[in-house]
Amino acid sequence: MSYRHLLVTGGAGFIGSNFIRLAMARDSSLLITNLDLLTYSGNDNNLEDVRRAYGAGAQPRYRFVHGDIGDEGLVRALLRGMHAGTKRPPVDAVVHFAAESHVDRSILGPLKFVETNVNGTTVLLEACRRDLEVQARPFRFLHVSTDEVYGSLGADDPAFVETLALQPNSPYAASKAGSDLMVRAYHETFGLPTLITRCSNNYGPYQFPEKLIPLMITRAMRDGALPIYGDGLNVRDWIFVDDHCDGILAVLRHGKEGHIYNLGGENEVSNLDLVRQLLAELGKPQSLISYVTDRLGHDRRYAMDVRRARAELQWSPVTPLAIGLAQTVAWYRANADWWLPLLSESERLTAELYQA
Ligand code: NAD
Repeated sequence: MSYRHLLVTGGAGFIGSNFIRLAMARDSSLLITNLDLLTYSGNDNNLEDVRRAYGAGAQPRYRFVHGDIGDEGLVRALLRGMHAGTKRPPVDAVVHFAAESHVDRSILGPLKFVETNVNGTTVLLEACRRDLEVQARPFRFLHVSTDEVYGSLGADDPAFVETLALQPNSPYAASKAGSDLMVRAYHETFGLPTLITRCSNNYGPYQFPEKLIPLMITRAMRDGALPIYGDGLNVRDWIFVDDHCDGILAVLRHGKEGHIYNLGGENEVSNLDLVRQLLAELGKPQSLISYVTDRLGHDRRYAMDVRRARAELQWSPVTPLAIGLAQTVAWYRANADWWLPLLSESERLTAELYQA
């Protein structure tokens, strides 16, 4: 399907902002409306360059709307292309990133995750369903989900495939699984043209410094202790954010309605090895590593089988971990003015979690 106007939710966050930058650069006729509530992890500055390049003039290609996915009236107006007295073509596709996204925060306070990830997604789906009833037209709803909905793997288990039953373990993963199931229900019950992507751990520029890789980089740059949960041998599959965004664009264009697509970097590594690589890249001593009490219910291993995306979409991740990590370290080194103002919030959380 081709599309002209995307409604992106959560586009001021880490992956959403990288997605908007990539999508705008790839398609010179694309319009994007970015609906974001600017919670602690949403940052207006993430899209400063996009706003300058595409957000000015009589008919700007990029438009930011400060608001909540749980505001059905607002979402329905945006779907029709309306906002603040201005009119754009109706939206052809929703790309839904907006969420509470941090596992540790979900352990400290699960209810917010249900409110945003389950209820918020359902309001968004309902707005799309009602709008489509009024204006029958080609449309797609792409829901961005996570490998964490599948649960945890043993060391020798095969990688996750899309047909597995969901076995989420953290409140974050359970709330994402809940939203995945509502998306499925809107497809099965109401025929809403939906797509779901499930992706492994992302890293890259503009990631809020509470998440593992930027936390380690920004602490190591200041010679601070690097907290590693448990024995550090939990394994994750890491994907460079641009590879994920490229996969989302491929699913949007070529994915089959009602289908789920796994996306992953095919870079399995333990947390300990990952932090060692980061320290080597930064030229900092391994002695900065400090072990802390394990996260409650900490999943041991995630791994993604991405054969469906390869076969149906001709998509593959292209960024080797060493290259992506070097680029990410270089970005954080060059952009301290972006992350320094965010440190008080991420360090407050770190102190609460590790009593560090
Ligand atoms: P993020 O926390 O950086 O960004 C989330 C964005 O959503 C923020 O801009 C925030 O302001 C916005 N938001 C929150 N509640 C909102 C609401 N009610 N209305 C409108 N906007 C709201 O998260 P991220 O890491 O960019 O993740 C984006 C999506 O990708 C999430 O759905 C997440 O579950 C999924 N995902 C993330 C990863 C990862 O490794 N980061 C991996 C797989 C899937």
